[in-house]
Amino acid sequence: MAIRCNPLDYYEAGDWQTMLREAEKHETPFLVVNLDTIKRNYLKMKKCFPGTTIYYAVKANPALPVLELLRDLGSCFDVASTYEMDRLLGIGVSPERISYGNIVKKVAHIEYAYEKGIRLFVSDSEADLRNIAIAAPKSRIFIRISAEGADTADWPLSRKFGCHPDLAIDLLLLAQKLGLTSCGVSFHVGSQQRDIGVWDSTIAKVRYIFNYMREEGMPLTLINMGGGLPARYINKTCEMDTYAQEITRYLQEDFPEEFAEKKPLEIIMEPGRSLVGGAGVLATEVVLISQKSRVGVDRWVYLDTGIFNGLIETLNENIKYPLYCESPGPLNENFVIAGPTCDSQDIMYEFFRNPLPQNITIGSRVYWLTSGAYTASYCSVGFNGFPPIETYFVSNPKPDSLEAENFNG
Ligand SMILES: *Cc1c(COP(=O)(O)O)cnc(C)c1O
Repeated sequence: MAIRCNPLDYYEAGDWQTMLREAEKHETPFLVVNLDTIKRNYLKMKKCFPGTTIYYAVKANPALPVLELLRDLGSCFDVASTYEMDRLLGIGVSPERISYGNIVKKVAHIEYAYEKGIRLFVSDSEADLRNIAIAAPKSRIFIRISAEGADTADWPLSRKFGCHPDLAIDLLLLAQKLGLTSCGVSFHVGSQQRDIGVWDSTIAKVRYIFNYMREEGMPLTLINMGGGLPARYINKTCEMDTYAQEITRYLQEDFPEEFAEKKPLEIIMEPGRSLVGGAGVLATEVVLISQKSRVGVDRWVYLDTGIFNGLIETLNENIKYPLYCESPGPLNENFVIAGPTCDSQDIMYEFFRNPLPQNITIGSRVYWLTSGAYTASYCSVGFNGFPPIETYFVSNPKPDSLEAENFNG
């Protein structure tokens, strides 16, 4: 029996009410983002990982209100390109708060970043490192190592990025020779990583590299743990507190002297999804419901947005978003859920049966919960003519104004 999705399993009640109220005002498709949720997530993460510097991964949701909020909360930022860098510099974020976290970058872009004052770069290859040494002399460098965990991350990153620890050592030594400052090691265990143990095995690799470099007389001081902390989708994960407790324990076990403050250690995290995912709801509407044969059991539900317009993370049915419909009727799992474009890849769920109300009709709304990350900025600019979706930003009414409302009402 399919279980009805309860939005309150995914949002705080007040946040959800505010988002729904906003959603009722607009024509679909669009995204509503609650800035208060992001603020709460940020503050919670600061508390869970004390002493760790948060570099928000801008790509998860690069909207200006999100960046301005995090700027005001004191966050640092991890950028993938000079374009993201410009957005941040444009709202007054100082370059010391920005890290150039993409291992793939043109020389011209490294030069540009350097000119703008960026001095913290990642690399995982010799060619890129040599480019950085020339275009951004004396900058601080961290080398990204590959991590396992592709099987337990819903959106794995591991194969494309990072190198073997032995190569990382070669690169750290080379960086010093090239006049750069080798400051540490980074990794990303894969986005929406459900197995906390992957941090343990990866931190052990970092320890190995730290030991080696210390013996070479070039001690490292920086660990960049990347992203990977989860948002709440259908597949359950542990809570943030559990991740924090476990990851902190792995760090303390592998870096006891550093934690006793006998040796310097700077720890960085680059959360994206875990900060903003739970702050969004994507509102869509059913355009068409059809059957593919006279006697077929399956029904195809076509929505007004799809893979090319915000839901790209359903590719391979990787991210399983909880779907909420207001209809109170019983649920049915005979639905294939697809997008509106003339492209056969534009099917969100065919093999994974995400239940919908049996009595769903054309015009019914379908809300995609936990969709604040990797949606709005991940839209095509006009594939099939459909424009990128709008985002509306909300904050919860202040307790004062609530009281005033009640008083007047
Ligand atoms: C995408 C990305 C992140 C954010 O990952 P999440 O899993 O969304 O938290 C962090 N660091 C780097 C280098 C990234 O590419």
